[in-house]
Amino acid sequence: MVCKVCGAKAQVEMKSRGLALCREHYLDWFVKETDRAIRRHRMLLPGERVLVAVSGGKDSLALWDVLSRLGYQAVGLHIELGIGEYSRKSLEATQAFARERGLELLVVDLKEAYGFGVPELAGLSGRVACSACGLSKRYILNQVAVEEGFRVVATGHNLDDEAAVLFGNLLNPQEETLSRQGPVLPEKPGLAARVKPFYRFSEREVLSYTLLRGIRYLHEECPNAKGAKSLLYKEALNLVEKEMPGAKLRFLEGFLEKIKPRLDTGEEVALRECERCGYPTTGAVCAFCRMWDAVYRRAKKRKLLPEEARFRPRVEPLRAG
Ligand SMILES: [Zn+2]
Ligand SMILES: [Zn+2]
Repeated sequence: MVCKVCGAKAQVEMKSRGLALCREHYLDWFVKETDRAIRRHRMLLPGERVLVAVSGGKDSLALWDVLSRLGYQAVGLHIELGIGEYSRKSLEATQAFARERGLELLVVDLKEAYGFGVPELAGLSGRVACSACGLSKRYILNQVAVEEGFRVVATGHNLDDEAAVLFGNLLNPQEETLSRQGPVLPEKPGLAARVKPFYRFSEREVLSYTLLRGIRYLHEECPNAKGAKSLLYKEALNLVEKEMPGAKLRFLEGFLEKIKPRLDTGEEVALRECERCGYPTTGAVCAFCRMWDAVYRRAKKRKLLPEEARFRPRVEPLRAG
């Protein structure tokens, strides 16, 4: 296989796209393809400040790299989740990346900020670890974006991630979660816009970029991920992809372009302000504050917290206008 651009030996062959490229031209193509996805969906304004959620894994570090190359003011946010060695190494990999490139990195330490990390949350919240973790990440990412005045946050979700979520939602159908899935979630009061510039890249394509760029990332997977349903869905989809190159992208794009628009009833779910923190929620108190209230109740029963301890959310700063 040779590079389609220069005819040199190809480093990455993409059957799904009928494209093979050498190192240099793959790096170019990947950056340009990200740029195309951003423009096509109007994810970002040129040169805009964007908050990038960085875990220290291959996808988010590659995203931070590409967004910086494309001229965005990309500030990283790392959330230290307190999952033992894995979290410690994640922070280290992220800090090393930021230091070497002179990029600004914000860090929120879950345990420091709220008293408990993901492992304790799993035992005290009544939620499984990944559910408590996902909720914490989504909330804190948005909170930091709002506090620091970012219009938009970007995450490193790739095609495999998005296709697996869609597949999971179809296996366990819920109309409202289906219609919420997409590469761009618009901003609302108290809610930063969310964009996924890598949503059309397969995991393998992102990894190829990360490796060819020489980005040092944390190889280790979260210990809680073992046996996760999402891995099963990815495996099933990759089984199909192997025999039918391009299947994953057709699956996701087909949904986004043909099915999703028909699911949107046009009725906006009314968002209220959480009574505790002021951030958007559909109920009276948001899921994040409810989780911490439950955690504090249980922690007191187990004498892990003094009786007088009370969960105090950081109240959302007042919005102008
Ligand atoms: Zn080439
Ligand atoms: Zn709240």
